[in-house]
Amino acid sequence: MNKKLIVIAGLAVFLAAGSSVAYATHAWGKYHWNLSTEDTLANPLKLGDNLTTANWESSLAGASDDWNDSVLKNQIVGGTSPDCDPTLGQVEVCNDAYGENGWLGIAQIWVYRGRDGHIAQGVVKVNDTYFNWPAYNSSAWRNLVVCQEVGHTFGLDHQDEIFSNANLGTCMDYTNDPDGTILGQLDNQHPNLHDYEMMETIYAHVNSTSSGPGNGNGNGGGNGKKPTGVGADINLNDPSAWGQAIKQDGEGNDSLYRRDLGNGLVLITHVIWEESVN
Ligand SMILES: [Zn+2]
Ligand SMILES: [Zn+2]
Repeated sequence: MNKKLIVIAGLAVFLAAGSSVAYATHAWGKYHWNLSTEDTLANPLKLGDNLTTANWESSLAGASDDWNDSVLKNQIVGGTSPDCDPTLGQVEVCNDAYGENGWLGIAQIWVYRGRDGHIAQGVVKVNDTYFNWPAYNSSAWRNLVVCQEVGHTFGLDHQDEIFSNANLGTCMDYTNDPDGTILGQLDNQHPNLHDYEMMETIYAHVNSTSSGPGNGNGNGGGNGKKPTGVGADINLNDPSAWGQAIKQDGEGNDSLYRRDLGNGLVLITHVIWEESVN
């Protein structure tokens, strides 16, 4: 009797620890925009559309719509940065044939140094060099990657990083079967409820401490100081510019990088490699 209780208690502790680890690792450290839901209802976070094809714009429109079910509201605006140089206070989204550099898509955020983990600006890039290959040239692949990279710029990490695991039904899950039709499984083109819950957790403190309507500084809200030299001088497409690898995906490839830019900002790069299919 007592033994059984101990075993059950031990199991409960194990399960609790397991689930808290799973939740903790989903968030991208503590990175987030210093914007409450109220702020973004009044002034949605801008996703600058620098995309050059209707296919990509369709994927971005879908991702924007999906993520607007979260606590952080966004809007697509005309892009002003075809080269995808970052713009303070918003996310730039770009496609180009970036070459056979290995990556299918990247999400980069510039975070103010210090404990708050506030995001200054973000960039999403998708690589047409690979999306022109038959293996990736589908709306399902485009939707998965755009949804995932935009999710990263809001502060989310992956729910699962093993490509061959069964789909979890979220774009924050690596897969070789984005819409689930090859293996008859869940569709990974959109966020799921767990992503929305994570967003609530990540943004809880800005929502609970928000006093009055808005924080008065719109989407530029960081630590109140403008960063200088946002990194336009480094080639952000080149993995050698991303700094130190701090995490590996399920295939053992580096998937997350950190570089201190020395100007009060830290560059965080999340990458999905094209090896997934080949
Ligand atoms: Zn904060
Ligand atoms: Zn990712």
